[in-house]
Amino acid sequence: MKKILIIGENSETNDLYNLLSTDYDIICAYSAEKVNTAFQNVNAIIINSVQAIRNDFSFLKKAHQNGTFAFIPLLMITGTPQTDDELQCLSYGVVDFITTPFQEITVKNRIENAICIKDSASFYEIERMLKALPSNIYLKDADGKYIFATHYWHHLDHSDEPEWSIRGKTDIEIRKDKENAKKAMEKDMEVIRTGKGDNYIIEINADGIQEFFHVYKEPVTDHDGNINGIIGLLNNVTEQEQLKRQLKSAAIIDGLTGLFNRHEIQSQVEKAICATKQNKSTFSVIMLDIDNFKQVNDCYGHKHGDMVIIKLAEILKSNMGSNLSAGRWGGEEFMILLYDTEISSAKYIAELIRKCFENTDFPDIKPQTVSLGVTQMKDGDTADSLCIRVDNGLYKAKKQGKNRVIVI
Ligand code: GH3
Ligand code: MG
Ligand code: MG
Repeated sequence: MKKILIIGENSETNDLYNLLSTDYDIICAYSAEKVNTAFQNVNAIIINSVQAIRNDFSFLKKAHQNGTFAFIPLLMITGTPQTDDELQCLSYGVVDFITTPFQEITVKNRIENAICIKDSASFYEIERMLKALPSNIYLKDADGKYIFATHYWHHLDHSDEPEWSIRGKTDIEIRKDKENAKKAMEKDMEVIRTGKGDNYIIEINADGIQEFFHVYKEPVTDHDGNINGIIGLLNNVTEQEQLKRQLKSAAIIDGLTGLFNRHEIQSQVEKAICATKQNKSTFSVIMLDIDNFKQVNDCYGHKHGDMVIIKLAEILKSNMGSNLSAGRWGGEEFMILLYDTEISSAKYIAELIRKCFENTDFPDIKPQTVSLGVTQMKDGDTADSLCIRVDNGLYKAKKQGKNRVIVI
């Protein structure tokens, strides 16, 4: 039941009390001074008799200035108004001034309308206030149509046009990133169907800008507890997310070559061994090391040495398909993982790399060569046994004269 506070004199209040008490929960205060903070919870305040406040318009004035009635409609019902009472009351935020004689039904309707108008005004007021926050806070109905959104971003079509409004539109209608829009609406429907909120991070690439948003979605319900929409919160977390990704990448990528570092490639070998056993597939590895590299450093300097390492890494990258992964094992030593690859294909790729490196011209130094060991995973292999075997292949290649591929 809605609550109404009646401020007024005894006899008149009793009449009004009788009229309204069947439809509303009534609280009475005999004068404005008796009104305490309890009125914050009421749906409407009725001042019954100007007399109750005439000597104290300051109550209305102060409440008006403080925004006390920003969310509560204030009505005046009186039998004996003086000429400027109505003006005074209306200027202090009273929304309706009802004089006797009146029909009972009229009073009830006017109270209901006042509550309804104030509720919807409050709704706009809240939307306006929420715009002050940097987050986008939005409300959608049960069909996924926006009721409001506090911020419009560049990835919405036409959002920069002054008359454009999001009200009544769906994500699919207005977003440039259609795939995300489709997912957003699917998530909305899931939240509505299950009644369970969700939160996740989305990546948006619109207008050539990469952005990340943390999205929170919660169902909203009507007074009977039925889900009739979604309230959402979007925070732009681009900076944090890019930093997170950089840190993550720095932890697994070798700075000089851009290939995986040793720690990462070792962990990939372990995962590949498990997956190969599980899927009964094939897995091969290549280990390679630049020949006589010390001489490059000694004769041409460390900088030229780095350049040779980078060049070899580029050759490895250019040979990398979806079933290939390469990492820097040590100084000028690299490991290549070949998923779903038989030894014959692995050998072919190793030979390709060897030839390609041998034929690479460097600006100021003589051509270089590389030695490679190749092996395929066998039953009972562990990451260690596989790495030791392929390293033995590499060692043999060195021993047999370098610039060659040895299958082991
Ligand atoms: P081998 O043919 O037997 O492999 O002979 P090698 O001279 O290449 O011998 P070794 O593999 O022992 O030498 C590797 C050298 O690579 C030693 C080290 O100073 C150098 N090195 C390691 N990391 C880097 C690096 O990041 N940049 C440069 N320029 N040199 C490096
Ligand atoms: Mg070497
Ligand atoms: Mg070495």
